[in-house]
Amino acid sequence: MSKLLIVGTVAFDAIETPFGKTDKILGGAATYIGLSASQFGIESGIVSVVGGDFPKEYLDMLNAKNIDTTGIEIIKEGKTFFWSGKYHNDMNSRDTLVTELNVLEHFNPIVPKKFKDSGIVMLGNLHPSVQSAVLDQMTTKPKLVVLDTMNFWMDIALPALKEVIKRVDVITINDEEARQLSGEYSLVNAAVKIHEMGPKYVVIKKGEHGALLFNEGNMFYAPALPLAEVFDPTGAGDTFAGGFTGYLAKTEDISFNNMKNAVIYGSNLASFCVEKFGTERMVDLSKAEVERRLHQFKQLTQFEIELM
Ligand code: AMP
Repeated sequence: MSKLLIVGTVAFDAIETPFGKTDKILGGAATYIGLSASQFGIESGIVSVVGGDFPKEYLDMLNAKNIDTTGIEIIKEGKTFFWSGKYHNDMNSRDTLVTELNVLEHFNPIVPKKFKDSGIVMLGNLHPSVQSAVLDQMTTKPKLVVLDTMNFWMDIALPALKEVIKRVDVITINDEEARQLSGEYSLVNAAVKIHEMGPKYVVIKKGEHGALLFNEGNMFYAPALPLAEVFDPTGAGDTFAGGFTGYLAKTEDISFNNMKNAVIYGSNLASFCVEKFGTERMVDLSKAEVERRLHQFKQLTQFEIELM
């Protein structure tokens, strides 16, 4: 079992979907990653920053799931990162209404001593120079570094983003962002271009259409589980990343074959995340539910065919 170090936002989100609207609720990339990875019973820790307005019970909830929060700095006089988004009717696309960086603006991440030798580092969505600063503090070279990002950082910090991308093994990115980063429309060509930027593995997330894993000529596709009810896709990408890295931390096998399973676990966990608003579904998710759905995934994709 490897330790998992998670970097990313711990945030307040206000979300609007065709099914309803929330006030400020718990969100953030690192929050979703941590909750998802906690399903594997591994040792994990978050590096992030929040303001004095962040409720202690949220940190207690993360601690109760064995997620170490000593790397979450609290700036008493500051305000927590706030994001607000509104989904379109198809739930596959959204508009960002507000991004208030607040305490994130001048964040100087400090990796707690006990996580400086983590085997797996998950650089969740955050300013790319913060992602780099975390890598700089590792005292032992991690077995695997995974990076997630979004168009926001491509728009405002592309050179810094390209620098950190050079240093990672795996990038997880959604289809539109892969197109923006590579300048290629075809996702196969986009993956080739992104390989050239550094990462040996490229995961392209396609929302309700599943995820693709590319590794220098090899390709694997995992569907998303077709669901009757999708309430809120927020955090699905991060939950995917948490499932992906949590599974790899648990199994300690970073071969292409095992990464296929990690993609399936990521998709499986993401399918729960979207069933309720915010983090609600992930907070109460049981191991038995995850296992049951894994069987559904198997049934969905397994077939036997006679070659003619
Ligand atoms: P996802 O739906 O997987 O893209 O993740 C949504 C989460 O990302 C929300 O909980 C937000 O708080 C967080 N988020 C939104 N914008 C940013 C940003 N620019 N940087 C970091 N995290 C963000």
